[in-house]
Amino acid sequence: MTASLQKPALQPNAEPIIKAVDVHKNFGSFHALRGVNMTVQPGEVVVIIGPSGSGKSTFIRTINRLEEHDKGTIIVDGIELKEGQNLDAIRREVGMVFQSFNLFPHLTVLQNVALAPMRVRKTPKAHAEKQAMELLTRVGIEEQALKFPAQLSGGQQQRVAIARALAMEPKVMLFDEPTSALDPEMIKEVLDVMKGLARSGMTMLCVTHEMGFAREVADRLVFFDEGNIVEDTTPEEFYNNPKHERAKAFLSKVL
Ligand code: ADP
Ligand code: MG
Repeated sequence: MTASLQKPALQPNAEPIIKAVDVHKNFGSFHALRGVNMTVQPGEVVVIIGPSGSGKSTFIRTINRLEEHDKGTIIVDGIELKEGQNLDAIRREVGMVFQSFNLFPHLTVLQNVALAPMRVRKTPKAHAEKQAMELLTRVGIEEQALKFPAQLSGGQQQRVAIARALAMEPKVMLFDEPTSALDPEMIKEVLDVMKGLARSGMTMLCVTHEMGFAREVADRLVFFDEGNIVEDTTPEEFYNNPKHERAKAFLSKVL
């Protein structure tokens, strides 16, 4: 992935990849999402920030059905997420990378990346492994292919997790604080892979407080507070002129 690659132009009139309308989620009596609205166009990179507990993870987890929303509508690439929905169909569309890498410890790096295409897409093993090697090359760790996750650094493991998600050829990639469990010297290698992905035209929804990443590649920045989006703007506008009091207070802490 070359960092200098020019990202394809966004097409504002294209059918959105994600359309969330008035999404609510309760955990018992706790109202975690309170009417979230968000539209994401193909190729858009949206960074989500906000205080701890504001619903960022809950929201992105509803997009691939790790959480079921209680009210409202979520449409992903034309598929409405609802009860009885075929989860495989959604998870083929949406890749996800978590703070904890969640690799299978008993499988090699190569097997971790090749597994889902073989299981879900019925890709023959030889082909799945060839694709997996290409993805490992893309994230810069092809020489680790035959190692087990525990033999890799955190940054390398997170790059395997990204390759594993990409192996399903998703239409959207979700990232939930992918660098917050990493030592500082490993954060850059993961952000560089994410920047390359952003510039390749991948549609991305990223919960991250990495401001440099947001400024460099985000088309939009949304600020969550108490279960809702209170600002939805460009990174520049957000940093230079945050409108909401909570956003101002938040920025003064993270910058
Ligand atoms: P964020 O990612 O912005 O830090 P979360 O989406 O993880 O916030 O959580 C939003 C709120 O919902 C928090 O108060 C959290 O405690 C609560 N919550 C999240 N998941 C659950 C759950 N499975 N059960 C109960 N409460 C939850
Ligand atoms: Mg979270």
